[in-house]
Amino acid sequence: MPTIKPLPELLINQIAAGEVVERPASALKEILENSIDAGAKKITVQLQQGGVKQIRVTDDGSGIAKDELLLALTRHSTSKISTLEDLHRITSLGFRGEALASIAAVSRLTLTSRQAGQNHAWQIGIEGKAVSQPEPAALAGGTMLDVNDMYFNIPARRKFLKSEATEFAHCDETFKRLALSQAGIEFVLQHNGTVRRLLRATSSTQRIAAVLGEEFGQTAAPVDEQSADMRLHGLVALPAYARSSRDAQYFFVNNRFVSDKLISHALREAYRDVLHLDKHPAFALFLEIDPESVDVNVHPTKTEVRFREARALHQFIFHAINKALATPSRTMNTAEP
Ligand code: ADP
Ligand code: MG
Repeated sequence: MPTIKPLPELLINQIAAGEVVERPASALKEILENSIDAGAKKITVQLQQGGVKQIRVTDDGSGIAKDELLLALTRHSTSKISTLEDLHRITSLGFRGEALASIAAVSRLTLTSRQAGQNHAWQIGIEGKAVSQPEPAALAGGTMLDVNDMYFNIPARRKFLKSEATEFAHCDETFKRLALSQAGIEFVLQHNGTVRRLLRATSSTQRIAAVLGEEFGQTAAPVDEQSADMRLHGLVALPAYARSSRDAQYFFVNNRFVSDKLISHALREAYRDVLHLDKHPAFALFLEIDPESVDVNVHPTKTEVRFREARALHQFIFHAINKALATPSRTMNTAEP
C-alpha cells in the first residue's frame, strides 16, 4: 500500500489552478476582478500572443503594502473576508484568496505595487518554488501584474491551449464582461502592441453601446424595474434584433457576470411568444439584490450563484422583461445617461 503524505504547496496550487485558471482568459478574469476590488479608476490590459506569452494588467487602485506582497500570492490569504458572516454578505468580486496563488503556480509571475504615500513601488517575482525578495521598482501608483508563459511548467496543460486568435477571443470576451459591469472605470485592451478596445468612463447605457455596438444600444428596450428588495436595469434587444447565437447575453448580479439556469429560463419565457425558436435574445441586464440573499460561493470561478428566493426572482425578471418588450419600440437616445 502506498503511504499517505501531504502534497507540496506548489502541487496543491497547481491542482487548484486546474479549476480556476483553465486558460489565459480565466487568469485575466481573476486579475481584473482584483483591480476592480482595489477601487481602480483605470485598468489597462496588455496581452501578448493571446495572453499565453504575457498578460500584463496595470491599475491605479489601492496597491499592496510591501510586507503583504508575498501574502497576496499565498493560497487562502485575502484582505476581503475574515469571518463566516463576511462570506454571507460578499460585496467584493474576490473572497477565496486563491486566484493569484493558482496563477503563480502555473506561470512566471511578477507583482509590482505602490500604495499611496510610498516613495516608490516594490516588486516580487515568483517562478515555481522560487520567490524573490521585494525589490524597489518604478510604478506611478497602484498595481501591475505580469503573468508570463502560462503553463510553461505543465506541458500537458499547455497542449490544451488553442491558437493565439482563439485565446485572444476568450480574453476579449472576459474583458467585455468586466467592462460592461463597471461603466465608471476606464478600460484599455491591447493585443500584441495594438489597442483593440478603449472604453472611457461613462454611464451604464453608454458602456453597453460601446461594448455591444451602437445598433444594440439604439434599438434595445430599456429595463428598469424595482421591487422592495431588488432592482433590475439594463437593455434587452427587441425581438426583431434577436441573434442566431447566444453571443450577446450578459447578466450581472451585483456587478458579477453570472451564468444561471433560473435566470436564463425567466428570460426565455419572457421572450417565448415573440421570438422564433431558432433565435436567441440579446441583453445586458444588471440585478441589484441584497448580498445576503444570494450565495456566490458555489464554484471556484464564481460564475454560478444560488438565490434564496428563487421563485420570486424568476417572476420578477419575467415581468420586468415582459413589460420592457411590450412597450412600443422606440429609438433610444444613448447620449443620455
Ligand atoms: P482574493 O481576490 O479572493 O482575495 P487573490 O488571490 O485574487 O484573492 O488576491 C489576494 C489578495 O491580493 C487580495 O485579497 C488583495 O488584498 C490583493 N490584491 C490582488 N490584486 C490586487 C490589486 N490589483 N490591487 C490591490 N490589491 C490586490
Ligand atoms: Mg481575486
